Amino acid sequence: MKKLALHWQILLGMVLGVIFALIMTNFTWGADFIGDWVKPFGTIFINALKLIAIPLILAALIKGISDLKDISSLSKMGIRTIITYVLTTVIAVSIGIGVVSTIKPGTSINEDTRNELVEAYGGDAEQKRQDALKQKEAGPLQALIDLVPENIFSAASSNRNMLQVIFFSVFFGIGLILIPEKKARTVKEFFDGFNEVILKMVDLIMLAAPYGVFALLAALVVEAPSADLFAALGMYALSVVVGLTLMIGVYLLLVKIFTNKSPLFFLNGIAPAQLLAFSTSSSAATLPVTMERVTEHLGVDEKVSSFVLPIGATINMDGTSLYQAVAAIFIAQAFGMDLTVGTQLGIIATATLASIGSAAVPGAGMVMLVGVLGYAGIPEAGLALIFAVDRPLDMCRTVINVTGDAAVSMMVAKSQGKLGEPKVKDWDDHYPKKK
Ligand code: ASP
Repeated sequence: MKKLALHWQILLGMVLGVIFALIMTNFTWGADFIGDWVKPFGTIFINALKLIAIPLILAALIKGISDLKDISSLSKMGIRTIITYVLTTVIAVSIGIGVVSTIKPGTSINEDTRNELVEAYGGDAEQKRQDALKQKEAGPLQALIDLVPENIFSAASSNRNMLQVIFFSVFFGIGLILIPEKKARTVKEFFDGFNEVILKMVDLIMLAAPYGVFALLAALVVEAPSADLFAALGMYALSVVVGLTLMIGVYLLLVKIFTNKSPLFFLNGIAPAQLLAFSTSSSAATLPVTMERVTEHLGVDEKVSSFVLPIGATINMDGTSLYQAVAAIFIAQAFGMDLTVGTQLGIIATATLASIGSAAVPGAGMVMLVGVLGYAGIPEAGLALIFAVDRPLDMCRTVINVTGDAAVSMMVAKSQGKLGEPKVKDWDDHYPKKK
């Protein structure tokens, strides 16, 4: 029998996970059973993916940059990448503002629901506010200081420090370009082999993906808040989802215009990474799979993907920025505030920066939202309004974050003449077998 393509296997795992959890909620012991015996497998799966992230960035970036041969092609690619990332983020925020201003979800929240939500989630929201406060205490150039680690081993010891590891790897790669070829060869070969091993580890982890997402989704369902709350926040959630869907359309259009690849080709290639992003809510955890899909299935040269994707996973979060714009304006609407055009333009700027600063982990976008609210003078207590549905929306926005990185990597690759035919067209050709 022909094996199902990976994205169908993952989708099946997700659906079965949800059904299993819905059945289990009928038993008094069901939620505990899932928490004790099913969820751990989801956690192990995410941990295995995260385990790969730092070594992958290190190996792929050093190999990718040293392959470039000269600094000018690196800076050309770097500038293109950053500009495209910022532009797509600005488009995303603008779409978010457009959608939330049209649907006006905040006006469907009555005062009773508002007070109820503030009461129920005020504590949790306060925690996010405190987290944000810690970040705010720093000076204006703190982000720049944070980019340069004082010790590479301590930087590499936390997935939150990915930008620092990226900095080190780029720096190391530049050093490698600048030393004589004869001396550089062994180091390059080492990282080449190291990179291959890591990619093989990703393949192996992905064999467990359908089971991993089964466990993750089952755990999410039993931990989800009541359906009533979803209904109250339905219009807000809908606004975010509509915005995110429009953004997918933007990517498909950009990919078509700039690379002449069909939407189906793009979506087929990236689908497993999207489903993992949805299940894990973390672009960082999804990065190894994004890299492998983009390189093997979308035809992006490794020299480009190994540079563009790790940077994208940490700074390019279009889904997050769109969500932040919708959330900020929704809260303003719910509190009966009118925002001037100037403030809305300011939201575009702050949401763009806030998404760049958001870590690629679950819930990070909400912490950074505090900055956007603060700028626009919107009550931070409003965070409590959106708390209940933040996790499902986090899952959706992470899909967009990952899709955006993949689309930009194709565009940058095309502009560098480094977009070719995919190495692998079918999952079965690649995974269980050795390359
Ligand atoms: N979970 C998102 C990501 O990892 C960040 C966020 O919006 O919270 O891409």
